[in-house]
Amino acid sequence: MTARDVLKQTEGVSPLSRLAQRAPAFQNSPWEKVDRLVSGGPADTIYFGNGTPSREVIPFARLQEASQRAWAEVMETPGALDYGNAAGLNELRDLIAARIKRNLGIRAERQNIIISNGSQQAIDYLCRLMLDPGDTIIVEGPTYLGALQIFDTYQVNYIVAPLDDCGLDVDHLRATLASSPVVPKLLYTIPTFQNPSGLTMPLERRQTLIELMREYGVLILEDDPYGELWIDEPPPPALRALDPGVAYLGTFSKTIAPGIRSGWVVAPDGFAEMLSIEKEIVDIHNERLMMRIVRNTVDGFLDEHLIGARALYRARRDAMLSGLARFLPSGTSWSLPGGGFFVWVTLPDGISAVELLPFAAKRGVAFLAGEWFYPGYVSADAASNLRLNFSTLPEEKIEEGLRRLGDAITAFVEQGDSSS
Ligand code: PMP
Repeated sequence: MTARDVLKQTEGVSPLSRLAQRAPAFQNSPWEKVDRLVSGGPADTIYFGNGTPSREVIPFARLQEASQRAWAEVMETPGALDYGNAAGLNELRDLIAARIKRNLGIRAERQNIIISNGSQQAIDYLCRLMLDPGDTIIVEGPTYLGALQIFDTYQVNYIVAPLDDCGLDVDHLRATLASSPVVPKLLYTIPTFQNPSGLTMPLERRQTLIELMREYGVLILEDDPYGELWIDEPPPPALRALDPGVAYLGTFSKTIAPGIRSGWVVAPDGFAEMLSIEKEIVDIHNERLMMRIVRNTVDGFLDEHLIGARALYRARRDAMLSGLARFLPSGTSWSLPGGGFFVWVTLPDGISAVELLPFAAKRGVAFLAGEWFYPGYVSADAASNLRLNFSTLPEEKIEEGLRRLGDAITAFVEQGDSSS
């Protein structure tokens, strides 16, 4: 059969009906669902769905000044805006290596650090390198929904590892693996100030998790956007600080601003060259001017700046915890995050967060439903959970938002009672 014969058979068939098998994953964005549910509420709606730093702590003036310095450097450096090194600007890689050693206990050399367009891109790189359709991976339940969006495009099967109060429940995972017919390839974990739960895994458990994953030859992908945003005390060492075989992802999205799209991978032993070549294949390298701006912004500034950011987030976290106690009905429970941006709430009496959301949105308060943080964006286990963000709202808005949420829950329950 020639191409012409094939053409005859497919006459009238549009390219849209010939998409790749992975394409359905691109039609299922949970954010669309969120926007649909949230839009149409009052203009002064208090939105607890963000995952971003507060506008007040984004260092706009420093970025502007760093940008002017970057331009001056570019004008003086021949080839500064030509194509460059795929792994990124060496001065930025060195700066990151020094910072993560000082602040997170991670020992890594420049050669192991690859600059990425945020950690979102780095998750994709690790998946692209590791995963074939039909492979099995382990994710925490709940986990970061943006990572699930990536995993879905690689057509993987999931083992969902539930959390307890100390993060991923390693004993539970051990039992699951003992009876699993397949050996998973990769574990995606956010051990520190987890998104969405706010939980942090203690040191001993980190060690046990590493041992378990070694036993099965599973690559640990440690995503750590919030590790430096501790409120009460510095978290335990990163998994990568305990094991050089861990792939560690960092980002400046939460400590500077998400729009600068600047993150990095600390490549596990033996992976650095392949990840650099991958970076070159996909987008050659990060934007070279922005890498200079980030280097100039961070150097001699960020550590000090984070002290102020922590104080602001502490006040907001505390406002959220006291507002939850004041305004939510008895029987509601919540996590106690020591850092990061989120509190994970469990509603009483099996109240469905997805059903509550449009009801609450009409009353001027919105949040993300817990079940969206599971594969398939549904989970009976998390039907009564919701994620609340405390980083972006001032204390008085947090208080008012929780008052509205408490009222919405009461009205929702009453409505259910009267219709049943
Ligand atoms: N991982 C987690 C756990 C996150 O919360 C986020 C941002 N919400 C990302 C990755 C993506 O971050 P970036 O902007 O660095 O791509």
